[in-house]
Amino acid sequence: MSSQSQQNILSTGETGRNPKVVLFDMDGVLYDSMPNHGVAWQRAMKEFGIHFTVEDSYATEGARGVDTIRKYAKEQLGKDLTEEEAQRIYDVKAHYFHKMPEAKVFDGVVALMKKIKASGLKIGIVTGSAQLPLIERVTRDFGDFVSADQITTAYDVKRGKPNPDPYLMGLQKAGNYLPSEGIVVENAPLGVHAGAAAGCYTVAINSGPLADSVLLNEGANILFPTIREFADNWEHVLDSLEKR
Ligand code: CA
Repeated sequence: MSSQSQQNILSTGETGRNPKVVLFDMDGVLYDSMPNHGVAWQRAMKEFGIHFTVEDSYATEGARGVDTIRKYAKEQLGKDLTEEEAQRIYDVKAHYFHKMPEAKVFDGVVALMKKIKASGLKIGIVTGSAQLPLIERVTRDFGDFVSADQITTAYDVKRGKPNPDPYLMGLQKAGNYLPSEGIVVENAPLGVHAGAAAGCYTVAINSGPLADSVLLNEGANILFPTIREFADNWEHVLDSLEKR
């Protein structure tokens, strides 16, 4: 750990934390899936006459897919799409995504989950995704750590990230925990915002192309460049929170 990140852990100065559950975002945190999503988004949006860049896919990451589609259709085509119309475009995006090679699990994820479990904390997953095959894969890859009823998806909330609703639902599903008992792990600006807005201690993993400042400005309490570094520093983070 660099001396600066050590300093960050020890100097946040918050009180009243009592960590009991860690809520992981999925894409860009558990899976190195963002490059595939970027390509699938671009292809699908183009078919419906919407210009959408790889940068757009990172900037909108974590939002419900249908919300992203409705926003861009309104801005570029002047159309107010219904939820159903947006869902049809999302289905095309999901189709392209699933034709791509399976994204790998990031190095360090399983090690981190083992440490969290050994520390006696629960684990939940909170994603804006509505892609069922990917969600099924989560239960397959992480079934030792997370049960299916502790996964929150786009189907569970009306208002997606950056609203706090998905993480509040994640706390509820994991066992009716308080925000002060939750640690959120996120890679995207909208997701970090959602975790902080829910009142959880929010860890940013900057696995994408954005500047660290973008994630810190949305309210991240601490930032690591990789999930492996967070795994290596899990004990420090937990100790610092429990001592407050
Ligand atoms: Ca993400």
